[in-house]
Amino acid sequence: MKLDTRAMRHLAAEDWKVLTAVEQGSKNHEIVPTPLIEKLARLRGGASGVHKSISALAKVGLIARVKEAKYDGYRLTYGGLDYLALHTHASRKAVYSVGNRIGVGKESDIMVVADHSGKQCVLKIHRLGRISFRTVKSNRDYLKNRNAQSWMYLSRLAAMKEYAFMNALHEEGFPVPVPIAQSRHTIVMSLIDAFPLRQISDVPDPASLYADLISLLLRLASHGLIHGDYNEFNILVKEIKTTAEDGTESIKLEPVIIDFPQMVSMEHVNAEMYFDRDVNCIKRFFTRRFHFTPTQPGPFFKDAKKTVGKGGLKRLDATVEASGFTKKMLKDLEAAIKDKEGDKEGQEGANDEEDDGEYGEDEDDEEDSEDDGGGDDETDGQPLLSDELSKGLLQDEPSIDKAS
Ligand code: ADP
Ligand code: MG
Repeated sequence: MKLDTRAMRHLAAEDWKVLTAVEQGSKNHEIVPTPLIEKLARLRGGASGVHKSISALAKVGLIARVKEAKYDGYRLTYGGLDYLALHTHASRKAVYSVGNRIGVGKESDIMVVADHSGKQCVLKIHRLGRISFRTVKSNRDYLKNRNAQSWMYLSRLAAMKEYAFMNALHEEGFPVPVPIAQSRHTIVMSLIDAFPLRQISDVPDPASLYADLISLLLRLASHGLIHGDYNEFNILVKEIKTTAEDGTESIKLEPVIIDFPQMVSMEHVNAEMYFDRDVNCIKRFFTRRFHFTPTQPGPFFKDAKKTVGKGGLKRLDATVEASGFTKKMLKDLEAAIKDKEGDKEGQEGANDEEDDGEYGEDEDDEEDSEDDGGGDDETDGQPLLSDELSKGLLQDEPSIDKAS
């Protein structure tokens, strides 16, 4: 599914109220009964206005009609959730317009957006459950019976967790994108003007870049954290040109780390495995790509463990709990993103080609069937909301306490 914001400008204030009502109703209902939508939307015009909005929203695929034995109703689609998140970002002045998609992860879409001043930023949309169940292995069993709604819930958790860590790491001075806003399953962050390490074929001094990356990994560990997916896709490398006094130019490479939903604590039961895997991932890449093999063994988990919180270093591994996550939420999320790792082929494919991916089996066809035409360009630079609306209401999202 592709984010197509064209319909956004045509939605009236009532339509947004109805869309919000469907979202609110989804907290307790898998399928939101029409009378409940009417009640929650509280439109002046009453039922007929609500029905008009329902048709308008269903027509552009933001909600989907579901016929059940007991009752008919509607459910929010990923498209509807995208619109609600963008509406919130637009109302808070974090996003003014949406541009091109610059990345397609296995379970995310990365878009360039602009704020009111025209400054470019990045919108990351989490889309857990997108990978086809054909490619998914054993540990999806835990998640097998999840419906679209619960994948959306997990995507929200992923965005919340990623945002919490991005904030904490940014405050601690780590080289990460600047967190700007979060709504539902999306994050707005600064755009890093750099290529992923994966796209870099040659570096002047591999040993020095390798040392920087290992020292970042150790610095994370000293704050109680393991990245958990520390690979060439999640390390962006900035090229900083410097000119010495004698006029000679040189280029300094500066890594920036991204992608945090899978981060784990140094206290995690499998911490050592995660730590070693992150280390080995970097080693393997440097050997293969730059023919560089470090002379020293390690670094080792047991040594890193001793540095956690040393000298009063702030522990960041409780960040997520501090931001309201329950144990259950963390467990759900951990199970959902387990399969992300270790499947390089999938990721390479996804990043190299325009792949619209597939959703879980619960998704309706209408959400997948959009064509791959240059829809992105048509929305480029256009404000997301109609003029009337962009002045209007601040829309907040319902709190997330659904234990699905
Ligand atoms: P996923 O969880 O799907 O792997 P990532 O956060 O790793 O998503 O982003 C996928 C790709 O999008 C990255 O490899 C990178 O190329 C690009 N990207 C993500 N965030 C940014 C950013 N802030 N600035 C520039 N490029 C980014
Ligand atoms: Mg990534």
